[in-house]
Amino acid sequence: MAGHVRSRLPYAPPPKGRGARAGRVPVAIVGAGPVGLSAAIDLALKGVASVVVDDDDRVSPGSRAFTWARRTIDIFDRLGVGEAIRAKGVTWRTERVFHGARTLAVIDHAPDAGVAAPAFLNLQQYHVEEILLARCADFPDLIDLRFRHRVTAAEQDAAGVTLDVYTEDGRYRLAADWLLACDGARSSVRGMMDLAFEGEAFEDRFLIADIRSPAPFPDERWFWFAPTFHPGQTAMLHRQPDGMVRLDLQLGPDADPERERLPERVAPRVEAALGGRPFDLDWVSVYAFSARRLAQFVHGRIVFAGDSAHVIPPFGSRGANAGVQDVDNLCWKLALVIGGAAGPELLASYDAERGRAADDNLRRAGRSARFMGPRTPAERLFRDEVLALAVDHAFAQRLIDPGRMSTPCALDGLSLQSADDPAMAGPMGPGAPCLDAPVTDPDGRPGWLLPRLGGRFTLLGVGVEPPAVEGAARLTVGEGGLGDPAGLVAARYPRGVYIIRPDQHVAARWAAPAPRAAAHALARARGAIAEVGP
Ligand SMILES: Cc1cc2nc3c(=O)[nH]c(=O)nc-3n(C[C@H](O)[C@H](O)[C@H](O)COP(=O)(O)OP(=O)(O)OC[C@H]3O[C@@H](n4cnc5c(N)ncnc54)[C@H](O)[C@@H]3O)c2cc1C
Repeated sequence: MAGHVRSRLPYAPPPKGRGARAGRVPVAIVGAGPVGLSAAIDLALKGVASVVVDDDDRVSPGSRAFTWARRTIDIFDRLGVGEAIRAKGVTWRTERVFHGARTLAVIDHAPDAGVAAPAFLNLQQYHVEEILLARCADFPDLIDLRFRHRVTAAEQDAAGVTLDVYTEDGRYRLAADWLLACDGARSSVRGMMDLAFEGEAFEDRFLIADIRSPAPFPDERWFWFAPTFHPGQTAMLHRQPDGMVRLDLQLGPDADPERERLPERVAPRVEAALGGRPFDLDWVSVYAFSARRLAQFVHGRIVFAGDSAHVIPPFGSRGANAGVQDVDNLCWKLALVIGGAAGPELLASYDAERGRAADDNLRRAGRSARFMGPRTPAERLFRDEVLALAVDHAFAQRLIDPGRMSTPCALDGLSLQSADDPAMAGPMGPGAPCLDAPVTDPDGRPGWLLPRLGGRFTLLGVGVEPPAVEGAARLTVGEGGLGDPAGLVAARYPRGVYIIRPDQHVAARWAAPAPRAAAHALARARGAIAEVGP
């Protein structure tokens, strides 16, 4: 059960004077997981060079994070890996929730038509890492990947960060203006800085298995409470590419992880879950979840992203999705700071915005964890009543919590967003993550709205010509600009002018073109105006 066949990533010894000879690098990234690699690509797209050091030289052995949500797929599109990820992944939108042998609910996660990205896509973490690594190779002058390079110390002063890096050919020092700590749940940078990682640990253990099976499985998420094949616990099954399924079985708090990992313990459980379908075990892990976060993600010139900043129980696939969304929020800000277009204070908004997202994810995942593994008699009574009533009552169906799936976090009311124009109403207010819609180019070619919005500030006019404001691109839908063939841009974005951030969130909007207000709101969105208000 070795898991994915992982070829070794190339090791390069530190050439004499490496780092010192090359001078300071703008950004050092510790950790080449999905978060560190996404950060290196996002920075490279903005012309910012980074050195990525990782103490390992292989991608993740098992699926680990494997369900990627629509917002993350939109980000992958912006990073230039969306096509490869879609080509390999299994897309799905339907979730079936069972109680014992009965179907309790069938949930459609994509009721809205007219968006390019699927609601969810299953792709093993190792495939995603391999696709991100291949994309890094497109930036040989901007991304320097160093495998089997372990960071053992990090010091910072007002000007930058110096890392001690250990390799089998000796140690060296790496100086950087900024350090991104993307070094995972057991972050060594966090440890070196002696930062508290507060939260709670859940006692329940889960058996997580990648299973190879020639049997057909539907492109759906299946979740069971008290399945007949695994009484009293929960189970989850997803199809993955390469003829694999991913099975998660709750084992309860008293399970012995060493024993439960043994093939002779795992095989009968899997056999029962698959109802006699043939299978081979590919990778097995017994895992206990915790829910923790750093109080602050930005510490001077050291910034935490992904699991190093927050570990989120994976119910609803929140872990790696949240990490990639951290990158999306952080990198344009860091690029502005490095380019001198914004002061380091802009990074405080990363703390506030992604801190809100982390709290939201932790709250929702904690609720799911308690629904699946009630810890008090009251929690158990609530859970059992909901499951019993859900058979006949729609209101109870809405209370079932099989790990509610990851959704993006709105940023309204936080410092970079302006107050909404009182003349505006409806969806897509300041802070909202942008929705996609089909568009046509002026020559009639079909396409999508979102790819035309990311990576820079854009003044988007819907049915209105946006004003020209320095520092932002302009895009018009209607009025001789892009076509709106299905009317979905107009339906999703009430007529007006929108400032769209590089991470595809609305920063401000008005019913009519307002050049002075737009210039002011753009300055706010770039962190140049600190106070909150119109
Ligand atoms: C068994 C298991 C099952 C999981 N299941 C799910 C799931 O179902 N759904 C879900 O969403 N998430 C799941 N996760 C969580 C998911 O894998 C993480 O959220 C994701 O990997 C976070 O990405 P990251 O890039 O922040 O960190 P990581 O992927 O952990 O990457 C960190 C990298 O930093 C490197 N590193 C660490 N210290 C140093 C150092 N000192 N010097 C150099 N390099 C260093 C490590 O080698 C590693 O490559 C699971 C995790 C595990 C372990």
